[in-house]
Amino acid sequence: MKASRLLRTQIVHPGADNLRYEIRQIVEVANAIAATGAPIQWENIGDPVAKGERVPDWIKEIVTQAAAEDLSFAYSPTKGLAETRGYIARERNLEGGIQITPDDILFFNGLGDAISTIYGALHPRARVIGPNPAYPTHSSAEAAHSGAPHITYRLDPENGWKPDLADLEAKVVANPDIAAIIIINPDNPTGFVYPEETLAAIVDIAARYDLFLISDEIYSNLAYPGSGMRKLASVVGKVPALAMRGISKEFPWPGSRCGWIEIYNRDQDAGFDRFARSLLEAKMLEVCATTLPQKVLPRVMGDARYYPYLERRVAAYDRRARRAVEVLSDVPELITHAARGAFYMTAVFRKGALTPDQRLPLEPQIKAIIEPHLGEALDARFVYHLLGATGVCVVPLSTGFNSDLQGFRFTLLEPDEAKFEAILQTLRQAIASYLASDTGDRLETAA
Ligand code: PLP
Repeated sequence: MKASRLLRTQIVHPGADNLRYEIRQIVEVANAIAATGAPIQWENIGDPVAKGERVPDWIKEIVTQAAAEDLSFAYSPTKGLAETRGYIARERNLEGGIQITPDDILFFNGLGDAISTIYGALHPRARVIGPNPAYPTHSSAEAAHSGAPHITYRLDPENGWKPDLADLEAKVVANPDIAAIIIINPDNPTGFVYPEETLAAIVDIAARYDLFLISDEIYSNLAYPGSGMRKLASVVGKVPALAMRGISKEFPWPGSRCGWIEIYNRDQDAGFDRFARSLLEAKMLEVCATTLPQKVLPRVMGDARYYPYLERRVAAYDRRARRAVEVLSDVPELITHAARGAFYMTAVFRKGALTPDQRLPLEPQIKAIIEPHLGEALDARFVYHLLGATGVCVVPLSTGFNSDLQGFRFTLLEPDEAKFEAILQTLRQAIASYLASDTGDRLETAA
C-alpha cells in the first residue's frame, strides 16, 4: 500500500535505511519454504538453545530457586544488583589486569541494548571503526547513529582472519572523526581470536591517536583451548575502554536479555568519563535491566560445575570447527579457517568464483519464493539457492556482515554429530554443484 503523506514534518531518521539484520531477514524466506513442507536446517542464528543444546538441570534449579524469591520480581538498581556487580569486579580483578570496582559496571537488557545505547549516546559526528566482516548489530547501530555507512578495517581471510593493522591505522589517520575502535573477541562471524600482540597493537593505535576502545567479549568464555584468548582488561593499560559481556551465549540464556559493560580508565579522560556517565543516565530513564538473570549470575558462574560445563561445550565446537575445515577445504574456490572461539565459521569464495549465472535445481514453487530475493550480491544469490535446494539456511557475508568479501557464515551449534556431518557434506556438494553450474554456458560461449 502506498500511503499519501500526512504528517507535517519528516520523522524518519536519516540513518533508518542502515538498520538491516539479514540473519533474521533470511528467516522469513526460510519460513515460506518450510510452509511448503520442505525441512529447514537452521544454521543462521547463534542461539544454542534454539539449536537443541540442553541447559544443565543444575542451572535450571538455580533459576527456579531465584524465581521463588519475591525480590527477583522487583526493579534492580540502575547500574545492576550490587552483589552481582561486586562478583564480576572481584572475578575481573583476580585475573590481574586492570582493576575495577562495582561502580565501573553497568547492566543492560542484553548486549543488543548496550550496543544501541552506546552508539545512540555518541556525539553525532563521532565515528567508530569496526572489523570487516562486521557483526551487524554494531555496524548497523553505528551507521544508523551517524547516518553514513559504517567504517571498517579488514580482517584478512588470506591471513587466518588477522586484522590488517596498516588498514586500520591508515583509516584512523584519514578520518579525524573516528573516536573509537571496535574489537569483537572471539569474533562473530569468523571465530577468530585476537592474539595478545594484535590486541596490544590496537591498544597502541588507540593510545597514539587518543581513541577509546569497545571490546565485545560476549564469547570470551567460549574460546577454544590453545586459542591464546586474552581479555582487553589484561592489555588495556591506560586507554579508556568499554568491555562488553553477557550470558546469552554462555549459560546459554539468550532469552534472559542480560549483558553488561565494564568501563576502564574513565579517570584518564574527562570526555570519556562524561560519555560513560551519559550511558548511566540513559539507563536511568529506562529504570534498570531485568532483575532475575542478574540474581542468578553469581550463583551460576560461581558454581564449581560452571567452568567444566563450558569446557565440554567448547570441546564440541572446536571438534566441529576442525571437521568443517576438513570437509570444506575439498573445495579449492573456498577459503576456510577453523574457528578458535565462539560457534561460527565463515567460508569465503575466492575472487571470481561466483558468477550471476550459477544456480542449483529448484522446485517451481520454491523458485517462486526465492526469486524475488535474488539481488545483486553474488554470495546472497548462492545462499538463497542453497536454502531453496537443500534447506540449509546460512547467512551471506556481504549483505549479512557488511563486507566486500563474498561468502557465508554457518554455525557450529548442531548438537547431533551425525546431522552436523550431513550438513557439512550437503554444503560441500551444493557448493561444488553451484560453482560448476555455469560451465555449460561458458563452454557454449567458447564453442
Ligand atoms: N555481540 C555479539 C558479538 C554477538 O554475536 C551477539 C549476539 O549474537 C550480541 C552481541 C548480542 O547479545 P545479546 O543476546 O546479549 O543481546
